[in-house]
Amino acid sequence: MKDWAKATAHPFVIAGPCSAEGEEQVMNTVKEIVHHANGKVQMIRAGIWKPRTRPNSFEGVGEIGLPWVKNAARAVGLPVSVEVANPEHVEAALKNEIDVLWIGARTTVSPFAIQEIADSLKGVDIPVLIKNPINPDLELWIGAVERFYQSGLKKLGVIHRGFSSYEKTIYRNPPMWEIPIELRRRYPEIPIIVDPSHMGGTRDLIYMLSQQAMDMGFDGLMIESHQNPDKAWSDAKQQITPERLGEILNTLIIREPKVSFDNHSLQDLRSRIDRIDDYIIELLCERMGISENIGELKKKNQLAIHQSERWAQIVKRALEKGKTGGLTEEFILKLFQQVHNESIKHQTSVMEK
Ligand code: PEP
Ligand code: MN
Repeated sequence: MKDWAKATAHPFVIAGPCSAEGEEQVMNTVKEIVHHANGKVQMIRAGIWKPRTRPNSFEGVGEIGLPWVKNAARAVGLPVSVEVANPEHVEAALKNEIDVLWIGARTTVSPFAIQEIADSLKGVDIPVLIKNPINPDLELWIGAVERFYQSGLKKLGVIHRGFSSYEKTIYRNPPMWEIPIELRRRYPEIPIIVDPSHMGGTRDLIYMLSQQAMDMGFDGLMIESHQNPDKAWSDAKQQITPERLGEILNTLIIREPKVSFDNHSLQDLRSRIDRIDDYIIELLCERMGISENIGELKKKNQLAIHQSERWAQIVKRALEKGKTGGLTEEFILKLFQQVHNESIKHQTSVMEK
């Protein structure tokens, strides 16, 4: 799918309502989207079966909505995608000639569900887009991708829609960009589409998150758009009008995903970064060597490896020093926790000798 997503456009934009609510709502929304998007939308989306957190909320119109979304997309000459969560959904979607399937975040968490869907797609040549699991677990996300690959599906993509967090943040699902960045490092061939709607949870964040996705060189966007967002039957707060969608797509700054190699000043700066990274690693190796010496002393004197007062002192010093150079507390703390962990591992192996 990298090829078809890339060949079509950069960014590859999927837009449409959170849910199909009625034949007219789908048709009007899709027509308005295409009218305002100025050729910048490549695919239509609509939810048919809705996985809701609590029962007794609108759970989607079901199979009856499949012809609505297919006909609306056909009317504007675009392919269409729906979410599937079990083999019955797959069968109904294929029967109605849906072009692309996506797997919702609540489904990706379950290897049983993913395996059933992947089995039901054996021998079918259809693109599948896999949303990240709701919990920040890259292996679970990759596991779902592997299950589809193993079923013989070749046109795979992923959708990054943010991760659930217990802490209250400005986001509905904080982006945790380091996770899709690591996925890209490990599977560079898989296209990554960012869903700023479920990430932000409110209209105001859609533009900023879409721009961030482009700044990080991801391949596309999935944005919820509804003809009358405030009256939407699901996810009303995060849906935007087709007009606003058009404005956003027309003002996004699209960056080149790859650097051309005749850019000398960039190459210069990059080689300086490489040199600094080498120093950092050499210094860390030296630091671990000293830690091991300390480990030997602690062993001889029957001292515990972890000395909490010393650790508090190290953190305090690092935070103060980092602050004067403009480094955030969060970064320094995470960095030193990692360094400290490694140090403890080295000392433990000395103790165990
Ligand atoms: C959706 O795309 O409407 C949806 C339910 O999203 P998610 O699976 O990301 O929560
Ligand atoms: Mn939604």
